[in-house]
Amino acid sequence: MSYGSSGSAAPAEEKRHHAPLSGKDTDFYYNGLEDGQLLIQKCDACGTLRNPPSPGCGACSSMDWSPHALTGTGTIYSYTVHYHPPLPGFASPHPIAVAEFEGVRVVGAMDGTEPAAMAIGKPVTIEFTRRGEAAGFRFKLA
Ligand SMILES: [Zn+2]
Repeated sequence: MSYGSSGSAAPAEEKRHHAPLSGKDTDFYYNGLEDGQLLIQKCDACGTLRNPPSPGCGACSSMDWSPHALTGTGTIYSYTVHYHPPLPGFASPHPIAVAEFEGVRVVGAMDGTEPAAMAIGKPVTIEFTRRGEAAGFRFKLA
């Protein structure tokens, strides 16, 4: 499935998710989580991957893109530990990581991982979750 604005308006993807945000640039992401996929954008013109979602490619300015599922093992690029305020559905404290997959950085919670186990460079995998009605994901140490 390809998206974009060349020639005609981007097709509106049916909202199948319960995330608080909804729009033509983000519904693919939340619908992907409902399907157990962590989707980012891949430029149809030059193949550059990008995240977070944006209307156009930063490398070639093309507005055409397709969803690309991240899989496999990423690497912790950076992280922090959230202590306060308490967040519904999350234990405190819990780590939050910026992980790199295929050269693209993605922010994700790492609830369920001990903060002392965190380190830059460690491998992580994607685990799909539900947070209330909304589909989500977390990273876990590989
Ligand atoms: Zn491009």
